Amino acid sequence: MTQRWTNTLESLFIKPFLPKDRLIRQMPIVRGKLTENEPLHKKNWFGVGGAAQVYFEPADAADLAFFRQNIPPVPVQVLGSGSNVLIRDGGIPGITVHLGKPFQQITVTENCLCCGAAAGVMEVARTALKNNIADFEFLCGIPGSVGGAVRMNAGAYGFEMKNCLKSLTVVTQEGEIRVLQAEELHDSFTYRKCLLPQEWIFVSAVLKGRKVKDSSVIREKMEANRQKREKGQPTGVRTAGSTFKNPEGMPAWQLIDKVGMRGAKVGGAEVSRKHCNFLINTGHATAKDIETLGEQIREKVFQKEGIQLEWEVKKIGVDK
Ligand SMILES: Cc1cc2nc3c(=O)[nH]c(=O)nc-3n(C[C@H](O)[C@H](O)[C@H](O)COP(=O)(O)OP(=O)(O)OC[C@H]3O[C@@H](n4cnc5c(N)ncnc54)[C@H](O)[C@@H]3O)c2cc1C
Repeated sequence: MTQRWTNTLESLFIKPFLPKDRLIRQMPIVRGKLTENEPLHKKNWFGVGGAAQVYFEPADAADLAFFRQNIPPVPVQVLGSGSNVLIRDGGIPGITVHLGKPFQQITVTENCLCCGAAAGVMEVARTALKNNIADFEFLCGIPGSVGGAVRMNAGAYGFEMKNCLKSLTVVTQEGEIRVLQAEELHDSFTYRKCLLPQEWIFVSAVLKGRKVKDSSVIREKMEANRQKREKGQPTGVRTAGSTFKNPEGMPAWQLIDKVGMRGAKVGGAEVSRKHCNFLINTGHATAKDIETLGEQIREKVFQKEGIQLEWEVKKIGVDK
């Protein structure tokens, strides 16, 4: 009976991914959590997408390094808190790595915060405030993890992650743990882009701010940022924030508005009326709906304004 049930489950869920030669059987023995066909729709802000063929949450950096040294040559995708990704409906073939609790710690020394890559950047901002460390106010309202924020060079109000990065610890494709200092990282970041190898997984970062006597200035800036967001962006909705990078000359939202796409819909996906560079899952959108709507915007903007909008949101995985 149990075997029949397992077989039924396999035929339902696992079939799209190598049913005969299951990838999970080729995985090394690790201390972290290793699963097969892990649903991902609850692990991203759009609330869409299929499953990860193999899903791994390492116990620590050494576990991740060992894992990478011993896996077959298949694609490895890292997922942070999923606030800047669109996971396609067919899921992610190969291996998806997600850093969980063991990577969430934040420790403070003087004007620096040593953060696990899974620590939330808003928690970084709150910790900095508690310890009278300025320059992290821009993170207030960005819903990502430290690892995701470094990969995206996340920023707001003229500040970016690269400004506060003192050092970065990575696990390379070969499973080597490397620590890179600020001097080596200097030229690795541009607007919402990190040029370090895509295969590298960031496991921790030391972020540097300024020690101040009075934390009230930090508190006021954070509050002002919070209010600005509340006024200008949709809140309490399923979105991945800004969909497109701002091209030279005009913010993306203005171009989208200009070509008449404010409020446009495809299936359950909608262009936010409050901030038209935000796409929203109104409840029953598929990843396909969201991507199609995004592509319609790009086409309209190109036709009418001659500008190629570039996706800021990372589209990952395969169509159904
Ligand atoms: C409401 C809302 C508001 C937002 N406002 C802003 C804003 O003001 N400014 C801004 O810049 N962004 C903003 N964003 C986008 C998003 O929050 C940031 O890009 C964030 O830094 C992404 O972090 P994440 O952990 O969610 O990464 P994910 O979305 O999970 O991943 C993003 C990319 O980073 C990679 N990645 C994730 N973790 C790691 C790791 N440990 N090592 C290596 N690569 C990794 C992924 O592979 C992927 O390519 C907003 C999003 C939302 C939903």
